[in-house]
Amino acid sequence: MGIALRYLFLRCYKIFFALMFNLILFGPPGSGKGTQSVNITHTYKLQHISTGDLLRDEVSRQTPLGVEAKKYMDQGLLVPDEVVIGMISSKIDESPNARGFIFDGFPRTKAQAEALDKLLEFKQTQIHLVLALEVPEDELTRRLVGRGETSGRSDDNLEVVVKRIKEYHAKTEPVAGYYHTHGKLERVKGDGTIENTFKLLSKEIEKYLLPA
Ligand code: ADP
Repeated sequence: MGIALRYLFLRCYKIFFALMFNLILFGPPGSGKGTQSVNITHTYKLQHISTGDLLRDEVSRQTPLGVEAKKYMDQGLLVPDEVVIGMISSKIDESPNARGFIFDGFPRTKAQAEALDKLLEFKQTQIHLVLALEVPEDELTRRLVGRGETSGRSDDNLEVVVKRIKEYHAKTEPVAGYYHTHGKLERVKGDGTIENTFKLLSKEIEKYLLPA
């Protein structure tokens, strides 16, 4: 490839990645991240990456990773960082032409947040915005236990839900501080209707990105 062509290629590459928009939907279990991610994905044509969905897929296929992850998930504990980070890395690589990513349920520890920064930096992009859904604790428990009655998710029962919320406070909440320090965190009330919460989230997203 000639020098001029290579230069042009690199410029296009940089411009392309600079145009990416990467969002984290953050919040405790039951705050509505999954539901809102689907709405956001459709409206803004971002690539949705949910570590919970990816892990449940591994569990249902009984892969070695799934068998290992299930032990933690059934106890309401976080799956080890290295497992989740490896999974995210290959998922990002699967979508080189994405308009951007929406991360749902990831990062859940400070180590995951730092690893994500490195992965995106390598791709000459970054996290642009972290939207943190805020829902009172009694409402979270009510939603999750209610979902368990129909979802068939073995971790949506009162005993495991209480552990998941405890794990959230201990390990995941500090991730909000990490992004706040970087000036990327916006808090959004998540206890209204699905439609109203979506409007609040959209208002924040549209400071960066218009519907596709
Ligand atoms: P929720 O947000 O309602 O807890 P998820 O589907 O995001 O549901 O996660 C279900 C379970 O999968 C978690 O309790 C945890 O065991 C595991 N998990 C999901 N994402 C991660 C992650 N980023 N790091 C570690 N464990 C994870």
